Amino acid sequence: MSHEGQASLEALQTQLRQAGLRVTAQRAAVLRVLAHSEEHLSAEQIWEQAKAYDASINLATVYRTLSTLKELGIIDPRSLTADGRRRFYESAAKPRHYHFTCLGCGRVQEFESDLLDRAREQIARQHGFHITTARITFEGLCECCAQSHSGGRTT
Ligand SMILES: [Zn+2]
Ligand SMILES: [Zn+2]
Repeated sequence: MSHEGQASLEALQTQLRQAGLRVTAQRAAVLRVLAHSEEHLSAEQIWEQAKAYDASINLATVYRTLSTLKELGIIDPRSLTADGRRRFYESAAKPRHYHFTCLGCGRVQEFESDLLDRAREQIARQHGFHITTARITFEGLCECCAQSHSGGRTT
C-alpha cells in the first residue's frame, strides 16, 4: 500500500517538473498528502495533514498550490456535497470511478461501473469528444440512512 503511494507521489512530482515548476517544500507537502490519501479531502483537511511534512505551510499556500495543481490537471476538484459548496480534492491519477453522496450522513462512496465507462466511450465516439474527465455524482440515501428513514422497516 505504501509502495503504491510512493509511486504515485513520484508520478505527481514528475508531472509538476514536466510543467516547468519547481517542487517546493510546500508543493511537495501537498502532493504527499494527496498521494497517500484514499479519501476526498477538503483544502482545510489537506492543510492539517500537510503540516506534518512542512510545519511552515499556511492555508493560503495550500489554496494556491491546489489551484496550480488543478490547472495542470494533476488533481481533480469535485463538488461532492449536496449543496455543492464544499470542494474536495483527489489525485487525478486515481483509477476511474464515480461518486455517490448520501444526503443523510454526508458520506461519499466511490464505485466503479463498466456501464458508465461504456456510456462515456460511446458518447465520445458519437460526438467526436475527447473526454478527459466525467464528473458524475449520484445523490440519495445510503443503505444505512434509507433504513433509518423508513423506521427500520424492511418492507
Ligand atoms: Zn447515509
Ligand atoms: Zn473519488
